[in-house]
Amino acid sequence: RPVVWIPREVHADAVADLETWADVRRGWGAEPANEDAVAPLVQGVLLRTARLDARQLSRMPRLRIVARHGVGTDTVDTAFAREHGIRITTTPEANVLSVAEHAIALLLAVRRGIGAAVSGRGDRADLIGGELSGSTLGLIGFGRIARHVARIGQGGFAMRVLAYDPGLSDEEVRTAGAEPRSLDELLEQSDAVSVHVPLVPATRGLLSTAQFRRMRSHAVVLNTSRGGVVDECALFAALETDEVAGAGLDVSEVEPMPADHPLRSRADVVVTPHIGGQTREAMRRVAMEAAASLRAELVP
Ligand code: NAD
Repeated sequence: RPVVWIPREVHADAVADLETWADVRRGWGAEPANEDAVAPLVQGVLLRTARLDARQLSRMPRLRIVARHGVGTDTVDTAFAREHGIRITTTPEANVLSVAEHAIALLLAVRRGIGAAVSGRGDRADLIGGELSGSTLGLIGFGRIARHVARIGQGGFAMRVLAYDPGLSDEEVRTAGAEPRSLDELLEQSDAVSVHVPLVPATRGLLSTAQFRRMRSHAVVLNTSRGGVVDECALFAALETDEVAGAGLDVSEVEPMPADHPLRSRADVVVTPHIGGQTREAMRRVAMEAAASLRAELVP
């Protein structure tokens, strides 16, 4: 039986599924296995929040696959994996609905001042929010998650949806359900701007001083993608100078966002600790998909 190492807890249904064909070693529970002991045997890893650097991978000579629980391979030394023929899989579809719903939750929270209201800051008379209905939503990156955000915005709130995505033709953006715009046009025309891009060198600081200047002063900035895509110093400055009206951030440059981070002091900013993909439904789907990838690779 192939040995599968699961460092951190994943949905029980996925563990049960793996146990039908694999020798599962887990890093949690009553008798957690130790990575050092497992390393020489392991052929597959189901990797949730743990990291696998080159030093750890080099101690796993039989390793054939790292199945990431979620998207993003930044927690694995991909260069080492490539060199040694170790496959890395992700589960890009499994939490799309959850992250999209979270982006809308953040938008509503910021628009309606829910953060300020629940924290007891501000009088009722001052807590005047805005409606989403009929407003314009600008999506930067128009992939899986953004397309679902678009569907919710259009279907639920009759929002007009604009999208900027250099990886797609205008025709592809239209077919997928939004009006194509350049980045500058989108920033100038949107009441809320939500980023849904991967963090790569080209997207680091994609929203920074110059972009906030272009935005409407009542606009809300949303980031459920990756910290670093939105420049936090520039965002704080833009909020201070009323260039933008608020922000909903599920991700930050340092996670969790430090308690003394200036953005946390603002009543117009709602911060969640990278929970966009964390619903019971998505967690199960993610774990089951990762388990299926392990099975496809390790069972002849
Ligand atoms: P996706 O790959 O389906 O879509 C990303 C899109 O971004 C692609 O269409 C691509 O062409 C576009 N893009 C790339 N570079 C761009 C640029 N410079 N400007 C504009 N668009 C650009 O990805 P997805 O599944 O929709 O995920 C989007 C983001 O959400 C990722 O960063 C992912 O890591 C993140 N995410 C966050 C959570 C969470 O818990 N908050 C969970 C899952 C995914």
